[in-house]
Amino acid sequence: MHIPTLIARKRDAGSLSTEEIDFLIAGLTGGSIPEYQWSAMAMAIYFRGMSIEETWALTRAMRDSGEVLTWGAPGSRPPVVDKHSTGGIGDKTSLLLAPLLACDGLWVPMISGRGLGITGGTLDKLESIPGFRVGLSVEEMRAQLERLGCFMAGQTAMLCPADRKLYALRDVTGTVPAIPLITASIMSKKLAEGLDRLVLDVKWGSGAFMQTRPDAEDLARALTEAGRLGGVEVRALLNPMSETLGCAAGNAVEVREVIDTFHGKGPEDLIDLTLDLACAVSDTPRETHFQRLTDGTAWRKFQEMVTAQGGDGEKLNADALPQAPVVKYLTAPFSGLIAALDAAAVGNAVLNLGAGRSRAEDAVDHSVGVDHLIKSGTEVRPRDVLCRIHARTEADADAAGRTILAGIALED
Ligand code: URA
Repeated sequence: MHIPTLIARKRDAGSLSTEEIDFLIAGLTGGSIPEYQWSAMAMAIYFRGMSIEETWALTRAMRDSGEVLTWGAPGSRPPVVDKHSTGGIGDKTSLLLAPLLACDGLWVPMISGRGLGITGGTLDKLESIPGFRVGLSVEEMRAQLERLGCFMAGQTAMLCPADRKLYALRDVTGTVPAIPLITASIMSKKLAEGLDRLVLDVKWGSGAFMQTRPDAEDLARALTEAGRLGGVEVRALLNPMSETLGCAAGNAVEVREVIDTFHGKGPEDLIDLTLDLACAVSDTPRETHFQRLTDGTAWRKFQEMVTAQGGDGEKLNADALPQAPVVKYLTAPFSGLIAALDAAAVGNAVLNLGAGRSRAEDAVDHSVGVDHLIKSGTEVRPRDVLCRIHARTEADADAAGRTILAGIALED
């Protein structure tokens, strides 16, 4: 096949056949198609889009570029379920959901990612737990699923190598926000997990990838369709991400909020979303999930998972997590009703404190972040606490405070 002809056809809004897409992905994975040609193709797809058939062909080819996990025939084992979130600020639901669903008798092979930009990543949060190992082999994943019903790990080198290459290329060529490319990237990885059911948490708003609800709806449709064609039952929930989920954003600070939630002291929005997601892949009544989430049942499963993956689940508590050297309260210099506390402002403050990464190879500081965040709808008076900032230096804490203050809107 002549690659420049394929690029030119897509540039001119033509279609690519399944065979051509297979060839393009095999060439990317194997290295026979140079990255500059794939960069041009990604840009052509960005501008011209892809049909459902092309998007599915791309998803399937990327899924099959590596290992596709299997857990035994349906009927011989519990239903295999997972969730995927398109990311947000303070979103720690995966840490609650995996053990909660395992307590429901489901198998949850949760393969997660790292944070990039203002969006946090599940693996970074988990790695703030001393000793926690996210690099599991497929054999370890299988053994843990059979014993505990869940694991939380990173992508192995064998899973979707085409996505790894294409995502790195998109990241540096301005071609990340293209719905067919996002769909193939997300769904190839989820389909390679060998799932029966998947719930998607598609976010929209200032702290999300998709800024508007209509864009999020388009993405949800494309993801659901790719899942259906891949033989997985998919439910998509659309959720706003204009305000931080819960009251903490960072890594260790979010794990502390998870521990509180398992002990019945979690924020309402976080509990609600976790239950919405659980009910989308399980027929168990919401009230039963709520009980298990908050009465210690899911907590014990989380502790078992931590121990199985190298940490000390028995001794895990808020004090066992990394602590930042500077902890400062940000107080209100005004009075009034908080109409909004912009998620992007909190995300930027947390990123600049060192909890996130600007480039994929950056290291994160697990100890820094914000907690005790005030929620919109709260009436404040001067010197009321708006949040608590965990920083490496006083100067960092002050800068984060200024960023967060700039993200607050008071009701007129
Ligand atoms: N997450 C992914 O895994 N891939 C994308 O393209 C975007 C978000």
